[in-house]
Amino acid sequence: MLRSKSLKRNPAYVISTTPHAAATRFCSFPLRRCAHFPLSFTSISFLYKIPPHKNHTESKKITKIMASKFLLTFAICRLIVAVGLTLNPTDLPRLGIDGRLTVDPSHIEEVSGDFGGMHRAEPLAVLHPATASDVARLVRAAYESADGFAVSARGHGHSINGQSQTSNGVVIDMSGGGGSRGLRLKPAGPRVFEKERYVDVWGGELWIDVLRHTLEYGLAPKSWTDYLYLSVGGTLSNAGISGQAFNHGPQIGNVHEVDVVTGKGDLMTCSEEQNEELFHAVLGGLGQFGIITRARIALEPAPKMVRWIRVLYSNFSEFTHDQEFLISLQGKPVSEKFDYVEGFVIVDEGLINNWRSSFFSPSNPVKISSLGGANGGVLYCLEIVKNYDESSAGTLDEEVEALMQKLKFIPASVFKTDVPYVDFLDRVHTAELKLRSKGLWDVPHPWLNLFVPKSRIAEFDKGVFKGILGKKTSGPILIYPMNKNKWDERSSAVTPDEEVFYLVALLRSALDTDDETQTLEYLSNQNRQILRFCNEAGINLKQYLPHYTTKSEWMDHFGPDKWALFQQRKLEFDPKRILATGQRIFSPSFAASTMAASSW
Ligand SMILES: Cc1cc2nc3c(=O)[nH]c(=O)nc-3n(C[C@H](O)[C@H](O)[C@H](O)COP(=O)(O)OP(=O)(O)OC[C@H]3O[C@@H](n4cnc5c(N)ncnc54)[C@H](O)[C@@H]3O)c2cc1C
Repeated sequence: MLRSKSLKRNPAYVISTTPHAAATRFCSFPLRRCAHFPLSFTSISFLYKIPPHKNHTESKKITKIMASKFLLTFAICRLIVAVGLTLNPTDLPRLGIDGRLTVDPSHIEEVSGDFGGMHRAEPLAVLHPATASDVARLVRAAYESADGFAVSARGHGHSINGQSQTSNGVVIDMSGGGGSRGLRLKPAGPRVFEKERYVDVWGGELWIDVLRHTLEYGLAPKSWTDYLYLSVGGTLSNAGISGQAFNHGPQIGNVHEVDVVTGKGDLMTCSEEQNEELFHAVLGGLGQFGIITRARIALEPAPKMVRWIRVLYSNFSEFTHDQEFLISLQGKPVSEKFDYVEGFVIVDEGLINNWRSSFFSPSNPVKISSLGGANGGVLYCLEIVKNYDESSAGTLDEEVEALMQKLKFIPASVFKTDVPYVDFLDRVHTAELKLRSKGLWDVPHPWLNLFVPKSRIAEFDKGVFKGILGKKTSGPILIYPMNKNKWDERSSAVTPDEEVFYLVALLRSALDTDDETQTLEYLSNQNRQILRFCNEAGINLKQYLPHYTTKSEWMDHFGPDKWALFQQRKLEFDPKRILATGQRIFSPSFAASTMAASSW
């Protein structure tokens, strides 16, 4: 039986006098006909007997309520037919969902693709939850149904390889998509605890909205991603990294507490002190152990401004030496270190294709060729930021200068700008708007994100940046180091076995042009070539935002100990393996034979 919300407790629902009859009749209604069934007051009262009302407004209101009940019933009936969900029809209206479960084709379409643009799967229905209980009710229904169906949380669908998709069940649209149709059903917005310096946010909240709310209190999260139109639950399921990670650790290291709906439909609060195993499992857990419905995120006083600096190198070892020096300052007082350290590779025409190129012009024109194409035309850009506000502005120049003096960049290549903190954090969105205006945002993105151990990064440079890429980038290529001691080994995230490792992010866009080197096929082949090169050279890298399709690849990714723990946690928190099947790690119990990866 479903754990149902009593209809009596919710006066908003008008109870049909004959729900069983209505639902049964509806279930036997041919699906194709159902899809076009007119949602008039008459048709709804045909399903749920509604007494005549004197007041027209009241009748309209009831019609609206009944329409949503009708759609809910329809969606669940479709699930019954499609996957054999066994529920007593009389229970259907009592699933008690406050949000909306829909099979509307436009909603299905919206969640069937992702940012990668290379994978597509249509779910049977979409849930727009209004509360964490909605999420729990749906997952529990999936878990308790005899035949089962998959449930995939979708944050903002910014995955590359179909990780938030499913064709075997229901997608839960956590970020309140469908906003354009007035369906923004997100639960209450972020709640800031000023004194305690943390914020409680819904799992589908976008980081940009978290920032906007916390700034009202002069506070901001400590650890970021480069792009803020990502959901909290989506980045916490991976790690969430940017140039602050060397100092504060990834976003998963800056969370005090989470509410999680497990694969059994249990809603649990987890932290270091409470349900500790689930807490560590979901952080970096690729959505495998539960759906994060609330996260408590650490805050710090928000700076007002940043000094944003870029300097160039033609010598890779000097570039990485300086990056590693800067991140080694993690334990120093704020005045003696930068707040953000990143970098990127400029290969030949790379600046033109780089989202960040606007930084260099028009006030900072740069003649790349004049700066030394000695190393096969490859340049490296160190990107550093110092935060400041009124109280620290006076010492800013001096502090920055003291740090810059220790670096070995090309002297003529210093580019500086001072911008508001928010503009800096939201910088990729500015690039997004430009790309959108040129029709270059919604294109396939065969992205490859790698964690490369420090000891092998020079080989990677030689083999990939100066070798395989062949002077073509087709998008930004980020490279920056992180300190492993800022990553909690108990989380599910996987990093290389070295104290310092680099993120190398090949963020390329595929275009349908005559230039073969920009096509999806070419770039995908090149990605495979890069992975093969690393494998053959014995570079023990780890994929970030991993994408594998076989069991042995996943086992290699986690390594024997972490794989054993990962499996054990799966068995405990999602024993029917119904969550986030788009990651292709485990086959759901109901479809073991139909998935690409074999059942394990
Ligand atoms: C333009 C762009 C820039 C990016 N920049 C960065 C960056 O700087 N740093 C970085 O770390 N990453 C970055 N990413 C990657 C991003 O963090 C991941 O793609 C992340 O998964 C996207 O979040 P999302 O909310 O869109 O998740 P989705 O793609 O919707 O979901 C990702 C996975 O998480 C699961 N999931 C989603 N919500 C929840 C939840 N509430 N609870 C449990 N599981 C859930 C899904 O089922 C799926 O398996 C970037 C991506 C893009 C497109």
